[in-house]
Amino acid sequence: MNIHFELLELRKKEKRITSDILNKLQDMENSRQYLEMGHHSLFDYLVRGLGYSEATAYQRQACVRLAKEVPEIKQKIDQGSLTLSAVTTAFKHLRKKPMAEKRKVLRSMENKSSREVKAMFLEPTPTLKIKKTEYVDKVHLRLELSHEQNDKLERLKALKSHKHNLESLLMDLIEKELKLYENIQRKSLKSSESKELGAPRSRNPRQISKRLRNDVLKTSNYKCQYPGCESHQFLQIDHIVPVRLGGDQRRNNLQVLCSAHNLHKG
Ligand SMILES: [Zn+2]
Repeated sequence: MNIHFELLELRKKEKRITSDILNKLQDMENSRQYLEMGHHSLFDYLVRGLGYSEATAYQRQACVRLAKEVPEIKQKIDQGSLTLSAVTTAFKHLRKKPMAEKRKVLRSMENKSSREVKAMFLEPTPTLKIKKTEYVDKVHLRLELSHEQNDKLERLKALKSHKHNLESLLMDLIEKELKLYENIQRKSLKSSESKELGAPRSRNPRQISKRLRNDVLKTSNYKCQYPGCESHQFLQIDHIVPVRLGGDQRRNNLQVLCSAHNLHKG
């Protein structure tokens, strides 16, 4: 029995610490100090900077974001009437909902188990679903379409006359699309052959050719080049000396930044 009371005491402390951490994380999010430390988001800071697992980091971030809009949920979390996992679920589903609805739903979630909360947000099955199974010699794709989507497919099949069954139609579309991209690449290669790589070609210094863009991205290893950041997502080509200060699109004035660090640089 003693052990149980000790654990109850520790659990109380744990709750207090969790709520202290959430408050401090809110300060971090508001000040955005993580950007200067090379993190591109609060999530990235939670994982790489504080060593949280991705799942836990996602929960913490969801709570911070939601508590920013609906501050009273912090108190509810402290009291235990809202769990972190319930708040995470709510965050995912309420993100774009108006404030009044957020408040209403959050109130209705109080004192419910995580399972009950998940059930509140069950959505009808999405209309386009693909199940992919890979075997050694082939790949199985199971495609689920709405009737509307299927009608479009049938229309295309009919327009293409009797040449195609579904498999050959899909392969035909894929081949065509691939060829289109290859042509674009070949053309942009040809047009830049006569000119040196990196020399400004277009009159608009903000405009960067596809080839140059690919080169900058490749050199950066498809990662944000802000010191310490390793983001692969939302990469943008940044002018090191901004265009408004006379910077051009020469190769050595270009670098890759994630959107967070590009915005931070201003
Ligand atoms: Zn970055």
